[in-house]
Amino acid sequence: MKCFFHPEREALGTCTKCGKAVCEECLQERRGRILCPTCSEAGFRPGELAAAGIFCAIAGAVGIIVGINLAAGAHANPLLHPLVRAFVEPLAAIFIISGGLAVVGGVYALKQKFWPLALAGSILSAFCFPPLGVLAVIFTVLKRNEFAR
Ligand SMILES: [Zn+2]
Ligand SMILES: [Zn+2]
Repeated sequence: MKCFFHPEREALGTCTKCGKAVCEECLQERRGRILCPTCSEAGFRPGELAAAGIFCAIAGAVGIIVGINLAAGAHANPLLHPLVRAFVEPLAAIFIISGGLAVVGGVYALKQKFWPLALAGSILSAFCFPPLGVLAVIFTVLKRNEFAR
C-alpha cells in the first residue's frame, strides 16, 4: 500500500477518520489514533475545548460563591423565617456542590479526559451560571470525539 499523498512512498498506516493510507512523514498521532494531515488539521482545534473547560470552571466557581453567600446570608439573619431558612440552606448546598463538580468537570474538559464527567460538570455549570455554562455544554457535546476514551 502506498501513501495517499506520496504515491512513491510505502504507507505505514491508515487514517482512522477517512481511511487514507499515510507514510511515515504524513502519519499524525492524536491520543493514540492515527490521522492523515488533512483530518488532523480539520479535527484538532483545542481552543474550543479549552474554552469549554474554562467556562465550566468559572461558572462552577460562580455557583460556589453564590452558594456560600446564600448560606452566609441565611446564617447572618436571625429573623429569617424558618420556612425560608429550610429552603435557602439546601439551595445553598446545591449551589456549592454543583459548583464544585462543575469545576472538576471543567478541569477534565481541559485535560480531554472522562467525557461523561466533563459533560455532567458542564450541565451543572449551566445551572450555576447559565451564560457560561450553556456554552460549556455546547462545546463539550460538539467536542466529544476529542476526548480520550
Ligand atoms: Zn484522514
Ligand atoms: Zn506521505
